Amino acid sequence: MSAPSSPAALPPGAVLGIVGGGQLGRMSAIAAARLGYRVHILTNEPDGPAAQVAHTITIGAYDDPDALRRFATAVDVVTFEFENISADGLELLAALRPVRPSGHILRISQDRVAEKRFLTEAGIPVAPWREVGTPADLSAARADLGLPFILKTTRLGYDGKGQSRIHRDEDMQPAFDTLAPHPLVAEGMVDFACEISVMVARGLDGIAVTFDVTENRHRNGILDLSLAPARVPETIRDDARKIALRIADALDLVGLLGVEMFVDRDGRVLVNEIAPRPHNSGHWTMDACPVDQFAMHVRAVTGLPLPPAVRHSDAAMKNLVGPDDMALWPAILATPGLLPHHYGKVEARPGRKMGHVNVLFPAGALPGEFGVDAALGPLAEGHGRQDDPTG
Ligand code: AMP
Repeated sequence: MSAPSSPAALPPGAVLGIVGGGQLGRMSAIAAARLGYRVHILTNEPDGPAAQVAHTITIGAYDDPDALRRFATAVDVVTFEFENISADGLELLAALRPVRPSGHILRISQDRVAEKRFLTEAGIPVAPWREVGTPADLSAARADLGLPFILKTTRLGYDGKGQSRIHRDEDMQPAFDTLAPHPLVAEGMVDFACEISVMVARGLDGIAVTFDVTENRHRNGILDLSLAPARVPETIRDDARKIALRIADALDLVGLLGVEMFVDRDGRVLVNEIAPRPHNSGHWTMDACPVDQFAMHVRAVTGLPLPPAVRHSDAAMKNLVGPDDMALWPAILATPGLLPHHYGKVEARPGRKMGHVNVLFPAGALPGEFGVDAALGPLAEGHGRQDDPTG
């Protein structure tokens, strides 16, 4: 049974402030409206995905103290869909209103070194890693990790940007010189069997729930396809959910957090990254769960009780990226069984996430490769190809 609302729960009509104007803010705002909240967005895009569906917007840069102050004083609680707000900006917001998830969690997730350090200290399994600030550190990392390894920027890396794979000694110096700012992180290359993720939500009362483990395929460094539940043994799913819960507790999370993980060839689960917000790999929950990741996020940050994160159907989620996928929009709309979500972006630039499509299957009936392909209809061709150079 769910707990009753805590006295700290925001009543309907209260204002949820979201920093960031992209699709995650848009889908959070729609979920918040269903619960009777008004949403106020801080964004630098007056006609962006979230602004289009919000009650109120403040237009401003995320590091503009005046905009941050105007925004914070107009809302009851602050949350994020955009994580890369400055430390000063976070402090300013936290001085004015409750910030959930709290600033210390954002600071950890903004910086790969802080993230790896936190995970390592919390006893969470990660790929071997080294901080690389100098060429001498790079040589030491090479000696410790062996070849191949990956060199990554510590800040502002996303969708596979800001990283370089080191296969030969000659690759090291150019990668070190190109990637910025320093220090970088060197990570042992995981020969993974698959990539999975878990969405965990944790409320003000410390009660946490996890959605089913998702299996993820990337294409050109961008998430392409998610399958739920992940087709991995039950023991691996259990490990993944327990790891996500341990991370949420160790961070004293209030809100939602996505945990990206690798399953290695020995069946071990290693954490790659955490993101303290709704996550692209959780979009299948919008159609396959009575309470989806966005509703769970809103409930957690407004102090409402968290219902079980149950799933009534198996699901596949396909991202719509750039002009090629959007050329299929009319065909998607005309195909029974495809559940489209459009982010309201006008211009379909290459590599830009424009929307996604969910497909449902009866619980326990997620088909294999060909079945998923068949269900995706016009979107079927070549889904899930890894690193296809022709795009
Ligand atoms: P990231 O920017 O850290 O999320 O990495 C983007 C993608 O690069 C991941 O989803 C993986 O496919 C791949 N990748 C990142 N780190 C590693 C690693 N240590 N070993 C193998 N593949 C990785």
